[in-house]
Order: sequence, then C-alpha cells, then structure tokens
Amino acid sequence: MKKLAFIKRSNGSHWVGDGFPVKSIFSYSDIAAELSPFLLLDHAGPAEFPPTGKRLGVGSHPHRGFETVTIVHAGGVSHRDSSGGGGSIGPGDVQWMTAASGLVHEEFHSPDFARQGGAFEMLQLWVNLPARDKMAAPGYQGITAAQIPEVALPEGAGRARIIAGQHAGTRGPARTFTPMNVWDLHLKAGHRLAFDLPEGHTTALFVMRGALRFDDGQAVRGGELAVMTRDGSRLAFSSSEDSVVLLLSGEPIDEPIVGYGPFVMNSEEEIRQAIKDFNSGRFGRIGQ
Ligand code: MN
Repeated sequence: MKKLAFIKRSNGSHWVGDGFPVKSIFSYSDIAAELSPFLLLDHAGPAEFPPTGKRLGVGSHPHRGFETVTIVHAGGVSHRDSSGGGGSIGPGDVQWMTAASGLVHEEFHSPDFARQGGAFEMLQLWVNLPARDKMAAPGYQGITAAQIPEVALPEGAGRARIIAGQHAGTRGPARTFTPMNVWDLHLKAGHRLAFDLPEGHTTALFVMRGALRFDDGQAVRGGELAVMTRDGSRLAFSSSEDSVVLLLSGEPIDEPIVGYGPFVMNSEEEIRQAIKDFNSGRFGRIGQ
C-alpha cells in the first residue's frame, strides 16, 4: 500500500510572460530527488482573458536536458520551436516536447483563443531525462484529446484519461524515455478509488480542483500535491468532492540534478556548457 508521505502546497504565484498566471506546485529548486523523474509542475489559471489581438505568452527561450509536458484544460496554446516542432493545442490536448540536447521555443495563447477570450487553465509538467538521453535529438509530440484513451472507472466513479503509461490494459499515446504514468483523472464525489502502480515508483496526486481523502483520514485539497511513499503498489483514496486530479507515477532517475533556470543537467560543468552553447547560437532559431 502506498501511504501519504507529505503534502506540498504552492509557494506562490508569478506570471510566465504576459500570458500565464502560474502557481508553482513544485520545482526541482525546492524539492528534487523525492519527485524524480518529475522536475516541476506549474498550474496556470484558472483565469479569464478578454478578447485581444495581442500575442500573450512568452517569447523565444531555451531548454536543455528534459521534457516539457503541457496539458490544456481550458483555452488554447500555440507553440513553435527551433527543431521545427509546433502546433496549437486546445482543451484536452497535450503537447509533449523533448528539449533534450537543446532548443528554443515560444509559448503563446493560440490565435483563436486570444480572439475569443474566455477561461484559460493549463498544467505544465517538466520530466527529467536520464544522463544517457540528455543530449538526444529534440522531439515534439502533439497529442490531441481524441488520441488519449479514456478508462471508465468502476461504479461510475469517473474517468481516467491515460496520457502516458497504462491502466487496466489501456495504454497512453505519449512516448517516454523512462517508465511513467501520467493520467488526467475526472472523479465524481463520494467514491473510493484504487489503482495498482509499479512498486518503487515516485507517486504523486495533484488535486487541480476538488478534494480527496486517504484511509487514515488525511485530506488533500484543490491546489495541493499529495506525495506518496515509493514502497507498495496499491494507491487508494476517496473523492470527497467532484475532482480533477493529475496522477503521476514514475521510475526515479537516481542521478544528480543540477539545474539553472531552463537547463537541467547532471553537473555544473554541463550547465556552463549549456549556457555557452545557448549564447553561441547552437540551440538554433525559431523558423529556421
Ligand atoms: Mn518553455
């Protein structure tokens, strides 16, 4: 049985560019080894944006050594990167971008969403790469909602969208470098849920909204991250309210984590190299 190890609450909000009002749920700079292979989780919104002709978001910036996974719940995001990847994603869609050896990219509200305005909400997860893959070629997986299979949970408890990994024989479409599960759970109030996850995996539940309760009576509420013990394989909890939850489980990468903003490597030397390579233009340019 996986037990609750601790609850992590957001330690503040900030804007990413002028498009993303973000609550930092966790980051490798405050908690690293415990959440490996996951490096960072930002919750953008929920927020209302008026219609605009402006491009709101964040312009060209680099990444090296990991992957960024963007899960849109409301609104739309457009992306372009120097490896030729890009596209617009909307509610239910996921962008799984492998920065690996390095790229620059931009992230803006999609033109359609900007024109219409309305509710905006998304999650961005950073997934670490093992040392052997940090300098692999960049990649881009644009995954539409229609490509993400849904598993109906027993007794009408809701549904699990399997983005990566597998549940009850249903496999998610995202290709990953190390074994992991990334599921988007939509739960009805008043049900008991139980999932079997690999023994030894880092396991965490981010309650985007709603509330959950563990068997020992501890509650985890909207905006909170429940980090579970790695031992045991059964994860059980109850939904106290209708809830939207990101379930993460992943095989820990037992290697040093040395990060500097958008670069996450294994040593200071590799960080110095990343800065040098970026400054000398080796990450390329958008639209090349
Ligand atoms: Mn970025």
